[in-house]
Amino acid sequence: MNSFYQSCIICPHQCGINRNQGQLGRCLAPARPKIAKTMLHLWEEPCLSGTRGSGAVFFSHCNLRCIFCQNYAISQEENGRELTEIELSDLFLSLEQQGAHNINLVSPTPYVPSIVQALKIAKEKGLKIPVIYNTNAFDSPESIALLDGLVDIYLPDLKFYSPEVSQCLAGTREYFSHATKAILTMLEQVGPTYINEEGMMTRGVLIRHLILPGYLEESRVILRWIRDFLPREVYLSLMSQYFPTHRAVHHPKLNRTLNPEEYEAIIDYFLDLGLENGFTQDLDSADPQYVPDFDTEEEK
Ligand code: SF4
Repeated sequence: MNSFYQSCIICPHQCGINRNQGQLGRCLAPARPKIAKTMLHLWEEPCLSGTRGSGAVFFSHCNLRCIFCQNYAISQEENGRELTEIELSDLFLSLEQQGAHNINLVSPTPYVPSIVQALKIAKEKGLKIPVIYNTNAFDSPESIALLDGLVDIYLPDLKFYSPEVSQCLAGTREYFSHATKAILTMLEQVGPTYINEEGMMTRGVLIRHLILPGYLEESRVILRWIRDFLPREVYLSLMSQYFPTHRAVHHPKLNRTLNPEEYEAIIDYFLDLGLENGFTQDLDSADPQYVPDFDTEEEK
């Protein structure tokens, strides 16, 4: 029983329900960490996947309700199994033994207190590789503070700007205000990005922005915010991998992939703003084959 779950205010939704007694908040996450899959992930940014793969741990459930979520089978459905904190720490160590360059905590937000415990146990047992917190960024600064000294790399999305768009596509009007506060806290905590001589990121913040077809103005405002409020050298991944899935297949703007002109327009805008460090994707990454198969058993 973790006391943080007694009246859960782990994320900005601040549900205040008792997860230890089986109550469910907006994320529907139980009190124990629930895992859908672990794998050596080769399709993250090259500085994270390297040659041997990023040690991805996919957590079940999510505190956002994105209608286009490519991982909806685990974020918005029931898939996954519950673990103890000790079992979770063993998973981290097992990924390191398999050669993972890092531990990549995917959608970890609802489980931060358990992850803190599991990381402490794993580090006491010798975990050495960097730890990535791979999040939708709808995190509270207090949660990020709990991870101080345990997480090396923050990998936050910055998805939407306007309250109307985030309400319609993810179920909350408050996304941008909370996500930007969380990102500023992450930057303050881990400082500048460091990429070693092998090209692997070992510390810092890498912001991901998924460009959505028909929402290019959201992307432009987000890029201007990054220019105005973050260090010029901040790392940004401009993602073109959107494809219609889940409830977005019926959405009038989101029922298609991004076209090359839209993607180039945003890359040009990034360069015009004087931003320096960016990763881009091939447009053929907009393919369901690049979504891990969450129906299979864990790859250990
Ligand atoms: S983590 Fe889940 S239960 Fe806790 S405040 Fe956020 S949405 Fe609510």
